[in-house]
Amino acid sequence: MSNTETKEESQVSQTSNNQPLLVVGTVAVDSVKTPFGEREQCFGGSASYFSYCSSFFTPVQLCAVVGDDFPEEYRNVLQERDINLNGLEVNKEGKTFRWEGKYEADLNSAITLDTHLNVLLDFDPKVQVNDSLEYLFLANFDPDLQLKVIEQVDKPKLKLTALDTMNFWIESKKESLLNVLKHVDMIVLNDGETRLLTGETNLIKGAKKIREFGPGIVVIKKGEHGVLLFFEDQYFALPAFPLEDVFDPTGAGDTFAGGMMGYLTKVGEVTADTLKQAIAYGTIMASFTVEKFSLDRLRELDQKQIQERFELFRKITNF
Ligand code: AMP
Repeated sequence: MSNTETKEESQVSQTSNNQPLLVVGTVAVDSVKTPFGEREQCFGGSASYFSYCSSFFTPVQLCAVVGDDFPEEYRNVLQERDINLNGLEVNKEGKTFRWEGKYEADLNSAITLDTHLNVLLDFDPKVQVNDSLEYLFLANFDPDLQLKVIEQVDKPKLKLTALDTMNFWIESKKESLLNVLKHVDMIVLNDGETRLLTGETNLIKGAKKIREFGPGIVVIKKGEHGVLLFFEDQYFALPAFPLEDVFDPTGAGDTFAGGMMGYLTKVGEVTADTLKQAIAYGTIMASFTVEKFSLDRLRELDQKQIQERFELFRKITNF
């Protein structure tokens, strides 16, 4: 929690599992190189970025696994936002998931140099389901594990189950991914992943095909070119927030999803209107993330900065 924020604004209670938003994904050690610098061993992971961002909107609980090497200082980062970490398992027999990536001139596409699944290989996620759980986000990780999570929740009781994925899983576990897609209401993925998953070059055709796989709501992120939403018979498009300095795009997708799901959980209903607002909040949260390495920029954020940028975004996209 930043110094300017009150405990109430943080909105989160640490002691119980009665949080309406649950995220399952990776908590990682990353090594990232961009045209503007390099960071060896920094805090990352799809569930880390997601939970940090969504906690600005709603109480959130995280389910993930780390190894015996997981730095205490990373755990402290998540605790700054009072994220419920009861579901963060420590596997003392293994090492934390690691990802090494780089960005070249095209900052929209991460190039994976190495992925060490480590403790993810033996992970058997056990989610703590309670009556207040309404929103579930399956952040980018193994689709077989995403399915194991879905099998543990009472889907009819949930208001929304959403999922993210990436080329790594589309290429290595496509059948599993197609299977899990039958059980989710919404998918968030980028333009390249849409093309890889569907074989369609055109994103509208790609979105239609994905909806046939299962999720009725499809959100396609296009990096600096914004986002497309497909919902029932409607389309919606938003640009990215225009930024002069993009430093490290890592986590942009996860924090987009964190802002979007955090907002939907806060308002408590999924309609065309709330989805559009949610996508705008996702865009704003991602725009902060890319301004610094790792979660550094997010750790300086407060509600006022989020709201100010949101209002400015509304102004520059309204005509
Ligand atoms: P993004 O929001 O797409 O930039 O996600 C960046 C985060 O995804 C990094 O912090 C990585 O630790 C994490 N990541 C990279 N590869 C994978 C993978 N195969 N499965 C799950 N998480 C990953």
